[in-house]
Amino acid sequence: MKNRTLLMIPGPIEFEPAVLSAMGEPTTSHLATTFIEAFGQSLQQLHQVFESPSGQPLVLAGSGTLAMDCAGANLVQPGDNALVVNTGYFSERFAAILQRYGAQVTLVSASPGGRPDLDQIKTALESGSFKLMTVTHVDTSTAVLTDVQKIAALGRQYGVLVIVDGVCSVAGEELQMDAWGVDLTLTASQKAIGVPPGLALLMIGPRAMEAFQQRTTPVMNYYADWSNWLPIMQAYEARKPGYFGTPPVNLIYALNISLSQILGEGMPARFARHITISRACKAGMQALGLGQVPLKPEFAAHTLTAPRYPIGINGAEFLGWVLQAGVTLAGGLLPAIRSEYFRIGHMGAVTLADVLATVSAIENALAGCGYEFTPGAGVAAAQVAGRIFP
Ligand code: PMP
Repeated sequence: MKNRTLLMIPGPIEFEPAVLSAMGEPTTSHLATTFIEAFGQSLQQLHQVFESPSGQPLVLAGSGTLAMDCAGANLVQPGDNALVVNTGYFSERFAAILQRYGAQVTLVSASPGGRPDLDQIKTALESGSFKLMTVTHVDTSTAVLTDVQKIAALGRQYGVLVIVDGVCSVAGEELQMDAWGVDLTLTASQKAIGVPPGLALLMIGPRAMEAFQQRTTPVMNYYADWSNWLPIMQAYEARKPGYFGTPPVNLIYALNISLSQILGEGMPARFARHITISRACKAGMQALGLGQVPLKPEFAAHTLTAPRYPIGINGAEFLGWVLQAGVTLAGGLLPAIRSEYFRIGHMGAVTLADVLATVSAIENALAGCGYEFTPGAGVAAAQVAGRIFP
């Protein structure tokens, strides 16, 4: 891992060496006993990572957008009403997907960096008869975290299926799918799950499965149709072979390794580590005088940070300097404020040392752009906020 820049974008992240070596192992048959065992174990481990003993895991070759598409294709029938809790770019993508399958979509929105409050969501739920609602746990475009537990409780109260886009949260932010009453959670491999891009992961809860079984119209997406995949997932989980489409064999071996590492760390310890690392990063930005996109500290995710540029700083120049200092960061994504902020991902295998190196590179870049600040102030604040001794 020399000759590289430190990759600190909100996905893909840097991966553990053992996960990467699984990617480079000789590919086996998808019907080999070693593969059946690795896939079966992975499906079982997903129940623990999603905290969903009652769910049906589904793993497909594809990115997070396929996971969203798959949820939409299988749960929406033309004319269904859907509510989208909108916290940014990816919430809007979900609205577009649901519309594509014929849903009448109502968006409940907030200004950039904000999130709709519970009363707004309640009023929206009362305004119509919704089959489902989608919530983006962490919208990667704004770094806004939603209160999934409280929103899911509202969904339950109104008898609405609750679908959570956990692409930027699962295995990084606390999410107790069954206990919180979430009906479907989806994610992708390249973020806190810790596997190179290429896997779409879903956990389908019993109510979502029932809604699927009660469909009266065909699923308008052949590849993503659950009827094709459920027997395959059930076979592998029972340690039997199955085939519908060739699974991404090496990615699934890698998934098995990463999920073992995640469960080895333990979910509570992993969430706590993400909180500490996030606190360190945010403290560093604050000490340098940089604001953040989330409008309130309690709206801010722990898997990434979205600092605002100081006035007068040019984003392209800044990111160029950061890269020269050895770190890759991401620019803004939400069209309305795209040029006003940048994004730092800190998920999965990330360490406090990575965050300190990143804050240091940011200091270099700010200096390169002519911004005035006390050199070392960001690193010092990050170090204090992220310290691991009592
Ligand atoms: N939802 C969220 C919250 C995301 O962050 C992303 C990707 N950044 C997606 C959906 C789409 O995932 P992908 O890029 O893997 O298709």
